[in-house]
Amino acid sequence: MSPTHAPVGAARQGSLRELNLALVLGRIAAADRPPSRADLATATGLTRATVSAVVEDLLAGQLVSEAEPAPRAGAGRPARGLVLADTGPAGLGLEVNVDYLTVCVVDLAGQVRHRTVHRADLRPVAPEDALARLVDLARQARADAARQGLTLAGAALAVPGLIDDSGQVRLAPNLGWRDVPVPELLSAHPPLTDRVPDVPALVVDNEANLAALGELHSRPPGPASFLHISGEVGIGAGIVLDGALFRGVRGWSGEIGHLPVHPQGRPCRCGGRGCLEQYAGQEAIVAAAGLVRAELPADTATARLAELAQAGEPAALRALNDAGTALGVAVAGVVNLLDLDTVVLGGGYAPLAPWLCPPVLAEIKARVLTAAWSPVTVRPSTLGPEAAAVGAAGSVVRRIVARPAGWLNRAG
Ligand SMILES: [Zn+2]
Repeated sequence: MSPTHAPVGAARQGSLRELNLALVLGRIAAADRPPSRADLATATGLTRATVSAVVEDLLAGQLVSEAEPAPRAGAGRPARGLVLADTGPAGLGLEVNVDYLTVCVVDLAGQVRHRTVHRADLRPVAPEDALARLVDLARQARADAARQGLTLAGAALAVPGLIDDSGQVRLAPNLGWRDVPVPELLSAHPPLTDRVPDVPALVVDNEANLAALGELHSRPPGPASFLHISGEVGIGAGIVLDGALFRGVRGWSGEIGHLPVHPQGRPCRCGGRGCLEQYAGQEAIVAAAGLVRAELPADTATARLAELAQAGEPAALRALNDAGTALGVAVAGVVNLLDLDTVVLGGGYAPLAPWLCPPVLAEIKARVLTAAWSPVTVRPSTLGPEAAAVGAAGSVVRRIVARPAGWLNRAG
């Protein structure tokens, strides 16, 4: 009987060390200013000796580094604060969208250290070929990361569609993908990242969800509850409530593009009629502005619309105003339902925000019951068009910070 005791004891000790590593690293990650070892002991309730030992492990594993001490008046040597390291593990963020591929690398501190945006219309491209292009870009990113002293510890991929628990894309209507086994297709290529315990090699998630998470964890921190809308050819929303993404029962929440704004209106790719996407999706805005799609590659549509609106071109202004009104109708419904006070316009909507925000706000004012007492803020995302890929990489980084022992215990 007794042999069972030793492994249990060892496991407990291992767990305690793992908990302390996560506790101390979490404090360093969340701190406004680089905390000293003494600050960490106070904040965690651990002894100074334990904190010192944990910090030594974190320093040796390239998870933290010592900040330059701030000059201080008075006697005594200033204590050196600790910050998340800018070498060591990093997250790989990937996105496949209708008209671009994005690859980025984010370090532990949340800094974007590499980004590539490859513009191309991917609708005529088979999923395996689109993923093969993405793998090529990821390989270049990995080499660039290595040159900067970073090791890719895991990857997350954003896709504008419905993803199931196994990472299969059930449906991405605007890409034309149905039942695409993304993890299987990617496993035909050499691994994109190093193998690190506790960090999944690949997570596939909805693009709007990952963009919302990117916004939630951006610095300086924004509100804990908000609606993030990614406006591309399709329109998706990420609903963040009390600092957490609201995913719904199957993880498929946020399909704001298919909220009806004209119940008897235009038929939609989803099979319904009068969906928001048909009035405020990128293609709808382009068509309403009188631009000929064939003469305007999808990848330049948003920039061209912004240019025309800036120049005061009436058709473009009218198209953006109508799109903003349709968007405002849908957003007002969501705000009435969920009692949110912040709406972030992301993806292709961000550069169009100067023209979309006023009609969205007008609809909110007219339709939201509580708007008179509690104004709703509508603003563009600060993350830029790569929000979903940055959010994807950030989700990997947060996993490393939450369970640092996996990185420290990795083989090699
Ligand atoms: Zn629809």
